[in-house]
Amino acid sequence: MYHIGDLKRFIRCPRYYFLTCDEKINNTQYLRSDESIIDLLCKHLHIDNCYKGSMGENNECFFNNADSYQWFVNTRFELENLRIKIPLMHKDKDAYDIYFFYRGIALKDLDFYYYRCNLEILRKLGIEIDDIYIIYINKDYVYHESLDSEELFLITDHYKGKRLIDLFDEEIADYKEIIKRIEGTNIDSYVLKKNKSCHLHNSQCPFYYECFKEEKDLPDDSILTLVSSQYKEKMYNEGIKYLKDANVDELEGNKIQYAQVLASRNGGQFVDKYNLKKFLSKLDSRPICFIDFEWDTYIIPKYEGMKALDVLPFEYVMFILDENDELKSYSFLGNGDCRREFVEALLNNMPKSGPIVAYNALGAEVMRVKELANYFPEYEKELLDIADRFVDLAFPFINGLVYDVRMRGNLTLKKLVDIISGISYKDLEISDGIDAVLRWRDIDLGNEDINEEETINSLIEYCGLDAYGLYLVYKWLLELI
Ligand code: SF4
Repeated sequence: MYHIGDLKRFIRCPRYYFLTCDEKINNTQYLRSDESIIDLLCKHLHIDNCYKGSMGENNECFFNNADSYQWFVNTRFELENLRIKIPLMHKDKDAYDIYFFYRGIALKDLDFYYYRCNLEILRKLGIEIDDIYIIYINKDYVYHESLDSEELFLITDHYKGKRLIDLFDEEIADYKEIIKRIEGTNIDSYVLKKNKSCHLHNSQCPFYYECFKEEKDLPDDSILTLVSSQYKEKMYNEGIKYLKDANVDELEGNKIQYAQVLASRNGGQFVDKYNLKKFLSKLDSRPICFIDFEWDTYIIPKYEGMKALDVLPFEYVMFILDENDELKSYSFLGNGDCRREFVEALLNNMPKSGPIVAYNALGAEVMRVKELANYFPEYEKELLDIADRFVDLAFPFINGLVYDVRMRGNLTLKKLVDIISGISYKDLEISDGIDAVLRWRDIDLGNEDINEEETINSLIEYCGLDAYGLYLVYKWLLELI
C-alpha cells in the first residue's frame, strides 16, 4: 500500500524513491504547533459530533458510518493500492464538502497532485463531492490570553480567481500509472542522470555523492563548484574542468563567480584587499561582539502577541573581544515563553557600544532583535540601537571580496569554520540548526527520554561554535589583508 508522499518521492526522482523506500521518513514538522491542528479545525467549524478515523482503518469504516454522522474527521480510504486521509468531510444530503488544511498564511504553490489524488479516489469510491474548501491560517490573527480558534483560520473555496472544485477537476491524477512504474522497476532500471531534484530549493540531495561518486574527489577548484551557474555542467561535459578555464560567455557574471575564477587562477585564493579593508574598518573599534541566535518558529501562535509563523528566540551565545584582545563568552538558553528573559539577558550581557557581528545578520539576528523590540516597547529603544550596530560577516563572501577554492562553492559559516580551523560541526552532538530546534523542543516539552543536562550542553556547544566561528573568520579576514 502506498501513500501520496511515496508517489511524490518517486516523481521527484525514481532513484531517490528507491534509496529512501526502506527508511522511516521523518515527518517532524519544522514549523511548530503544540496544539492538535485537527482539533482546532473541529473547534473552528463547531464540529462536536463526528466520525473520527484512525490509523489502519479501511473504506468500510467510513461506509458503515456514512448514515450516522454529518462530519467525518481524518477518514482513511484506500483504492488501487493507494491510501489517503481526508482531514474533514461534511455531508450535505447525498454529497460531501471536502475540507483540506494548508499549513501557511497565504495560499501559494498549491500541491495540486495531492488534492487530485485524494479527490479522484473519493470519486472512484462513489463519494459525490459537492464543494472543496481549503482552510489556512489567518495572518492577522494575534494570540491574546488564549488561542481563539474562531479567529485563527480562514476558509476559501477559491484559488487565483477559480473555484477549487473546477481547478482540481482540470486534470486526472496519474497515481495508477506511477504505482505501476514503482512496482515494475527497481533502482537499476533508471539511468543515473542529474535532474533538478539533485539540488532542490538550494539544498543538495542527501544521496548526491552516492549517485555521483566521482564528484567527491573533484579538485577544490572544479568548474562544478561554480555558484549559481546554469552552464557549469555543460562546460564540464565539454572538457572544461577548472574554474580558471571557465568560458566567460557562459558565466552569469555575478561577483562570486568572478572571485571564484580569479581564486582558481591565483592558485587558490582571491582577496579584493581594498574593499575587504573597507569592510573590516567597520570592526576597528572595541569591544566587538560575535553573536549567534537559535529560535523556533510557531505555525500556530502560542504566546501573547504572537502571530502565525512568528519566531521565539530561545538561545544565544556571544563572544566579546575587548580592548586587550581578550575573549569572554556569555550565553542564554531559556524555555517556554522566554522572550522577556532573552531580551533582559541580552541587554545585560551586550556591551553598550561597538560593532555586533553575525552571519547573514539582516535576515536573521537583526530581524529577531526588531521583533523583540515590537513585543517589548519598554526595551524598544535599546533593542533598535542594538539592531543598528550589526555588521554582517557574510558580506565579504556574498559580494565576492574573498573566495578560497576550499570553500567549494559553499559560502556558509560552517564551511568557513571548517576550512580555516579544521573544526567540523559533524563532530558535535548537534550539528545543524534544525537539529538544534528539535532538541530544544525536547527540553521545552519535557521529554523524559532525554538527558536534559547533556542536551543543554550540546545546544550551548553548537550555538557557541557558530559564535566562536564568527571570531575565527574575522581573525582570518584580518590576516588576509
Ligand atoms: S542525487 Fe539526484 S539522481 Fe541521485 S537520488 Fe538524489 S535526486 Fe536522484
